[in-house]
Amino acid sequence: MTGAVPTPLPDWLTAARRITVLTGAGVSTDSGIPDYRGPDGVWTRDPDAEKLVTLCYYLADPEIRRRSWLMRRDLQAADPRPNAGHAALVDLERQGRLRALVTQNIDGLHQAAGSGPDRVLEIHGTVHEVLCTSCGDRTPMRAALDRVEAGEPDPACLVCGGVLKSATIYFGQLLEERVVEAAVAAAADCDVFLAVGTSLTVHPAAGLVEVAVRNGARVVVVNAEPTPYDDVADLVVHEPIGTALPRLVAAG
Ligand SMILES: [Zn+2]
Repeated sequence: MTGAVPTPLPDWLTAARRITVLTGAGVSTDSGIPDYRGPDGVWTRDPDAEKLVTLCYYLADPEIRRRSWLMRRDLQAADPRPNAGHAALVDLERQGRLRALVTQNIDGLHQAAGSGPDRVLEIHGTVHEVLCTSCGDRTPMRAALDRVEAGEPDPACLVCGGVLKSATIYFGQLLEERVVEAAVAAAADCDVFLAVGTSLTVHPAAGLVEVAVRNGARVVVVNAEPTPYDDVADLVVHEPIGTALPRLVAAG
């Protein structure tokens, strides 16, 4: 089935008790956070911007780091707020039906909306923490941005002097194995896998759909554009996320 959220909802959806959700950029666009890979995405329009999040360029070029710190400062200053899509997933958790919330987003808006930090698996990391590329020291982003605002254009690690970056996964960087394993386990152990606002073209996120299908889960895709997994989905919804999600997760 493709298009609108069906009324009434299918029984298998209202009866689902272990729903694993995967969210992508589309969930945060209503909060004013740009989609990087979409048709009008930042990287689609300006491929050079991708260098800002490519590890080898970042480590080699102080100018790229300075630009990155200014970008992080601007992002924090914009103070994005969670939207109706985030809130719907908090409701799902309160109903006791959320197995896990896997997200490709790095904005922390699920936790800001009220999703339990123990349910959220940030496979691409978070902008709210800073990581030293030499010693692995982790510190709050706020503290590093305070140093930028105090006049350090490229603050170094206070422990070892190494290069600091946001605790997000850059191109050329491995994902955190522990987080990916937890996401795969949640995809394998759900009765419904709900992919929202993601193009399902980036691994390992895309592979989670396959894991879910192999383990007998129903699949729901909510996305503005077609995805490579629409054919295997039991339900494909093209409605805006902010209105579709609250209806899809309405208690059965
Ligand atoms: Zn360090």
